Amino acid sequence: MQVQSSFCRHRLLILLVLFYSLSAGGTPAGEIALSFDDAPRGKQQYLSGLERTEMLINKLDSLEIDQVVFFCATEQLPWHHGRRRLQMYGEAGHLLGNHTHSHQHPGKIGCQAFIRDIRQAHDSLKGMTGFVRWFRYPLLDEGRSVPVRDSLRSALKELGYRNGYVTIDNYDWYLERAFQQAIKNGRTVNFDRLRDLYVSTLWDAIQFYDSIAREALGRSPRHVLLLHENDLAALFIDELVTHLRENGWKIISPVAAYEDSIALYVPDVLMNNQGRVAAIAREKGFKPRRLVHEAEDEAFLDSLIEKSGVFQ
Ligand SMILES: [Zn+2]
Repeated sequence: MQVQSSFCRHRLLILLVLFYSLSAGGTPAGEIALSFDDAPRGKQQYLSGLERTEMLINKLDSLEIDQVVFFCATEQLPWHHGRRRLQMYGEAGHLLGNHTHSHQHPGKIGCQAFIRDIRQAHDSLKGMTGFVRWFRYPLLDEGRSVPVRDSLRSALKELGYRNGYVTIDNYDWYLERAFQQAIKNGRTVNFDRLRDLYVSTLWDAIQFYDSIAREALGRSPRHVLLLHENDLAALFIDELVTHLRENGWKIISPVAAYEDSIALYVPDVLMNNQGRVAAIAREKGFKPRRLVHEAEDEAFLDSLIEKSGVFQ
């Protein structure tokens, strides 16, 4: 009898955990690496560059996250302690990837100038601790015609680079812009509400692209989250990571994430401004409209910010 009732209790516990994880997360848990674009960003309205770097390094350390990757636009190196800050990231065990020198896109400056921009950033970064030959396209713009896309792919291959793709795209940059603008305009910021909005929009984006992946690949890949080296990331990275962990997600290193087989699979589509999961889904025939989350929209976010009463 006792054995049977303990067995029943055990089964009940499993059912409760299953119910809780489904009702809490909506989708099962996965694995995800953190990447921060546009480092080293200069002083903003809230934090100086150095304060932001120190805050990020300290928080990642407290969270026991040994490794994230910063994709660097090297034009910013001479100002706001730029070079020193990249050294600090590298010495803390994090990785530094190439995000071009001047953060242009090939459609604007042309293919050859864009390749020169990649090489210039490469020359600045190559001696630094933590440097890896990973390239993140600015604006995730991989070229808007097949010849341009293929020229860029071969230039990167010649330099020995891999594509530092994302799987989870989102508009964290737009929330950051709204935050900076609000401070500039002297508005009062409700930081609790801002934190909740930051975490919930990113969490929604993660679940959205994970469910696309499960449908398109039949599994959850090792994800790479797109973030920016901005004030919101420094303020709320701990809350975001805690939320992910509470929902069963595991934070992994970018090296582990890029060992996923989707790193070797380069979809034959012109897929701009989106990540690799979306590109694979597009190649499999998903309609483009289905591959953009509703919060990747400025008007949608404006109304969320308004409704949430983040700025008074
Ligand atoms: Zn960027």
